[in-house]
Amino acid sequence: MESVVPDLVSHWIDGASAAGSSPRRGPVFQPATGHVAREVALADADDVDAAVASAVKAAADWADSSLSMRTRVLFQYRELLHRHRDELAALITAEHGKVLDDAAGEVQRGLEVVEFACGVTQLLKGEHSEQISRGVDSYSVRQPLGVVAGITPFNFPVMVPLWMAPVAIACGNAFVLKPSDRDPSASLRLAELATEAGLPPGVFNVVQGDAQAVNRLLAHPDVDGVSFVGSTPIAKHVYTTATAAGKRVQALGGAKNHMVVLPDADIDTAADAAVSAGYGSAGQRCMAISVLVAVGDTADALVEAVAARTRELRVGPGTDPESQMGPLVTAAARDRVVANVESAVAQGARIVVDGRDVRVPTEGFWVGPTLVDHVTPEMRVYTEEIFGPVLAVVRVDTFEEALQLVNGNPYGNGTAIFTDNGMAAREYQRRVRVGMVGINIPIPVPMAYHSFGGWKDSLFGDTHMHGPEGVRFYTRAKVTTARWPRPARGVELGFPTAH
Ligand code: NAD
Repeated sequence: MESVVPDLVSHWIDGASAAGSSPRRGPVFQPATGHVAREVALADADDVDAAVASAVKAAADWADSSLSMRTRVLFQYRELLHRHRDELAALITAEHGKVLDDAAGEVQRGLEVVEFACGVTQLLKGEHSEQISRGVDSYSVRQPLGVVAGITPFNFPVMVPLWMAPVAIACGNAFVLKPSDRDPSASLRLAELATEAGLPPGVFNVVQGDAQAVNRLLAHPDVDGVSFVGSTPIAKHVYTTATAAGKRVQALGGAKNHMVVLPDADIDTAADAAVSAGYGSAGQRCMAISVLVAVGDTADALVEAVAARTRELRVGPGTDPESQMGPLVTAAARDRVVANVESAVAQGARIVVDGRDVRVPTEGFWVGPTLVDHVTPEMRVYTEEIFGPVLAVVRVDTFEEALQLVNGNPYGNGTAIFTDNGMAAREYQRRVRVGMVGINIPIPVPMAYHSFGGWKDSLFGDTHMHGPEGVRFYTRAKVTTARWPRPARGVELGFPTAH
């Protein structure tokens, strides 16, 4: 279902749409045609301050609301999101470009975090020790941080905000979202539907914008915590700036995910998985496979099987049910991908399937699926996060070499191993320095009730997102030690120990 989208994508402050005071605007493209579809407001510091002020005003009452009341609102939010899932998917496809069923899958994975948040009361119970000393009990509870900000990337305009907002809100915080300015419309619907679900004004605000808005959020004295998802350089900037300002931060960065194929693996299964995970969403997923590591004598057959499938992929507008892969998000993204493929040629890799000459009936930001063989770790196509439909094949002789390659890479978001050998799979899972591991599963994205996050340059901070770690991030511990009754004990200057 196509929704009616306004010409200007505004902010959402205090439970209502707000144009803001900044005159700055940015273009929102339709990647499949290359046309500007609408504009997005770009917040200045005053707009951010208005959103944070609204959140501060709402936070205390929301933190005081009963767990049952919070849960009821979240249940209602889940129902509304479910009812509007086709509309949300259409908004994603229009501004991001991914095909509709991929967009529907994204909405579903976001919804699952809302469902998890409906049961967050189980994780907010705290702990109680009776009689830690005579007549003395001790208990720990987790309390909300206050106001938390979420800064999100373009590639999952519904799912990533929903990794954060429902958990933060269920824990009793007020939330300020700064979505990507490339596909901002869905964020507004997320906030609008939360308000319709009964969330009090100010508990979920959205400020549209770019670096200006982000930097004001990072410096704002009333923002207590920051969740970020995006590229590694910005994740580092967000982490160092916001922690220096005394805030709690989780900043998820970029990725270069390797899929290792051992000689005993079933080639057809591995090839299906590599093509699905390499080219789905045009490679614009943080869990996309971008490096295929062919071990031993498996390489020739694997490359041939992957190439045959890659040539068959249907590239076209995401709204066309025949399309399996849509465009890149912007012209700059397309140019970056093409430059990377050109560098691979110049550095001696072999282009097996060339997506640069893909033919599509509309003018948009197109690159077809591209398969590059004989890639070495020094080549730019290996060292850079391309974030496009390019699969690089690195050939190695042994399992150990494959493991060293993955562990030597600065990123550590996701990885997969394909094998029928359980012992090799177990060894890989134990020794690999990556946060999320798939065994015969190419995109091992954890379910909402587990937590999502990488290692090394793929995450700055201590906690992963959603699941139990999300609850830990959005709350802080308070431990109380109480004596009842309180008999007169006299003065004791010694350090307290149990009696
Ligand atoms: P990005 O880093 O360009 O932008 C992310 C957010 O930061 C946006 O809201 C953007 O407005 C803001 N931003 C951009 N430049 C900034 C600056 N100079 N100062 C302050 N804020 C700034 O990322 P993107 O292109 O939107 O998304 C793609 C990237 O996100 C890829 O690197 C991908 O791997 C990563 N990603 C990672 C995960 C993960 O879970 N680790 C998930 C999704 C995407």
